[in-house]
Amino acid sequence: MTAINNNTPLTTTSGNLLPFIESLPDAVVIVDQNHKIVLVNALAGSMFGYAVDELKGSDLSTIIPMPLRNAHRKHVNGYFKKPVLRPMGEEKRFSGVRSNGQEVPVDIMINTIVLDGAKVAMALVRDVTYQRELEARLTLESLTDEMTGFYNRKHFKTQLNAQLSGYVRWGLPTSVIMFDLDHFKKINDQYGHAAGDLVLTTTAKLVRGELRPLDVGCRIGGEEFAIVLPNTNLEDAETLAERIRLMIEETEFELDQVSFKATATMGVATFLPTDDSYDLLMKRADNVLYMGKAAGRNCTLSQNALLTTDSAG
Ligand code: GH3
Ligand code: MG
Ligand code: MG
Repeated sequence: MTAINNNTPLTTTSGNLLPFIESLPDAVVIVDQNHKIVLVNALAGSMFGYAVDELKGSDLSTIIPMPLRNAHRKHVNGYFKKPVLRPMGEEKRFSGVRSNGQEVPVDIMINTIVLDGAKVAMALVRDVTYQRELEARLTLESLTDEMTGFYNRKHFKTQLNAQLSGYVRWGLPTSVIMFDLDHFKKINDQYGHAAGDLVLTTTAKLVRGELRPLDVGCRIGGEEFAIVLPNTNLEDAETLAERIRLMIEETEFELDQVSFKATATMGVATFLPTDDSYDLLMKRADNVLYMGKAAGRNCTLSQNALLTTDSAG
């Protein structure tokens, strides 16, 4: 943020400024050092759902959402002490509140001027509802797999990392099920790529039906899935993994009147006190998954299988 050269702030009167701010294509709200709204344009009135005369003279908190009011008050005080140029878009999470209580996400840009003999802050206020919604949609798209609607590998890692913090700080257990469809290449080769796709989407649907709201279903590779299970110990995760494995095994897939079967191999792991990175959990789940593959597939193994082989070997 750049300090404004305020050596020569614009000095004007309400009467002179009003026609100018009415001609601006953004809402304008002018506030004095006591947080009183001294002047607004018609666009500001319609943005916040008030008549211009209702806003004029009222406290700035009228248009600030309750939870932000205290912080914003301090912000305004600080602003008058040290005016800085605040470009639109820099403060990402700011919002105003309409007369009907509805919040409106806004970007603001502020400058100081001398109005009718007093130093005031003049804010351009822009409704960014559309941009925020677009941003949220793009963020979600960047984290999800289009085919299954599951989260992708990137989000899987983000989730695991967040859960590791909870485990380290509060000892909240988090477990993970990783599974990989067996001989999936054969399904594609024998029944076609569309049949393979059907197995993937059906599997995601089956899994989704088993998840609690906090669980996170992810597709982390072509035919590889992972489920993050917060607040779940290894034993419960293993039980769920086995249930999902059975559901897949028992499903009769059908495409173009041809029916076929699929199976999956499941690896289950949970955080350990020695884990200082989520990678270690991923590695354990991956390692037992591949032990399961080597053992003949269509089975569930937990990280305890690694301990058994470690101590045996
Ligand atoms: P394994 O039991 O050892 O896991 O054998 P596999 O055949 O399942 O494993 P492999 O890694 O050899 O083959 C995975 C296949 O999954 C190859 C790839 O073409 C297929 N695949 C990956 N993504 C998709 C997809 O989105 N749709 C379809 N239909 N197939 C996919
Ligand atoms: Mg496979
Ligand atoms: Mg695979």
